[in-house]
Amino acid sequence: MARLKKRLTKRTSKKSTNKISGELTEMNCKKCDRLVYNVDSNAISVLCTRCTTLLVGAPKEKIQRVKSNKPRGWAFLAKYIHEDGTVYFRGVEQPKLKDTLKPTDLKKLGEKRKKTSEKNKKIKEERKIKREKQLVKEHKKRASIKEKKRKEKIKMLKG
Ligand SMILES: [Zn+2]
Repeated sequence: MARLKKRLTKRTSKKSTNKISGELTEMNCKKCDRLVYNVDSNAISVLCTRCTTLLVGAPKEKIQRVKSNKPRGWAFLAKYIHEDGTVYFRGVEQPKLKDTLKPTDLKKLGEKRKKTSEKNKKIKEERKIKREKQLVKEHKKRASIKEKKRKEKIKMLKG
């Protein structure tokens, strides 16, 4: 009986590996919606290389290499043109557009980012202050309602 079971599992596992038909298709990443190429046509969902790397944790070597020749967060830019003329849209290389656009001005990019981050910081602080004010206001309101109710109760008890 046990033997038969063993044989059966062996057979089914073999069948499942046979499922990979070799037919390849394209599919959107289930996490970030990026188009992934060379996906087996039997695949239900796919995780792109970037999401897989994020999940697994990128190898240290690779990070260092990326750091040295591309600006931080380049893959998140809508359009990034590397100094060798390679065009990327949100981290995806566009081979057809190579050398058709001017390389991204990294100095300008840095300045722009600095400005944006300063602006965001300011907005954040303003929001915080606003929220604190609102909280104080709400607290006072609640306290006054409580006080009013308390007075009414006393009045009722007395009356
Ligand atoms: Zn993804």
